[in-house]
Amino acid sequence: MPEGPEVETIRRGLLDVIQKNITKVKVAKSKKFYQHSKEINSLISSTIIDIERKGKFLIFKFSKNNTDSYALNHLGMTGVWHYYSDKIWKNTIQSLDNLPHWKVYFQLSDNSHLIFVNIRTFGRFEICSIDTINHHSSINNLGPDILDDVFDSSLFINRVRGNTKKPKTREIGKALLDSKIVSGCGNIYKNEALFLSNINPFTPSDLLSDKQLSTLAKNLHLVGHKALKFKGSTLRDYKHVDGYSGLMQNEFLVYDRQGETCNTCKSKILKSTQGDRASYWCINCQNNYLPE
Ligand SMILES: [Zn+2]
Repeated sequence: MPEGPEVETIRRGLLDVIQKNITKVKVAKSKKFYQHSKEINSLISSTIIDIERKGKFLIFKFSKNNTDSYALNHLGMTGVWHYYSDKIWKNTIQSLDNLPHWKVYFQLSDNSHLIFVNIRTFGRFEICSIDTINHHSSINNLGPDILDDVFDSSLFINRVRGNTKKPKTREIGKALLDSKIVSGCGNIYKNEALFLSNINPFTPSDLLSDKQLSTLAKNLHLVGHKALKFKGSTLRDYKHVDGYSGLMQNEFLVYDRQGETCNTCKSKILKSTQGDRASYWCINCQNNYLPE
């Protein structure tokens, strides 16, 4: 699933569409999207004013006749945006029939083409009021974002310490997947940051000192920005708007490296199931706590 750095890379790739008008709209006859087709079709003649990111969501802002409207977009497991100039479109795609799994299509005022493609339809593109977006349970009350210019480490520590409804003893590897504790961080960057911090993912959160959590905060921020620099990780379907893959997967220290040796100590990297996700860790570098 795209994490913060992948979603942010896509957002930056879409900035060329800002200030362009929507001249044509099409919605695929896929139930999850088609049920919103009336609202999506109403975007015709709107101008795309802004695209913002909150956690793993993109929020599109449109304006028509001085009235603003918004779309909440989640990429799901496999969602990507494609953007083509008219020249490239005519030389390559030519027709939506040649673009399997397209869900939402916009033609823009300079004849460019903006398309949301989603193979497994877990993504969403829904027109909402700004109130709905601000009160959305996955968006309001987000923890500090790994891509913030300055990561609020006190807020992070406060949230890990139990300023949420979850028990304070929750394993840190699970806590880091809770966007109310830290946002923009998914399973990949969680594993990488825990390794850099010499913290075992199974450590109950309340056993971690402020110093350990502050090191973890620093490393979450560091890993997030490194991933952004490499334009995200491409494991399966994730691509930038221009069609290229991310390169962060070549930099992984533990994620997806089970059975290989640790770059730091040459011990073996293990993979363990943690909840419904996998955690990857070095038995030597992350021995502050060992699971049974
Ligand atoms: Zn090691």
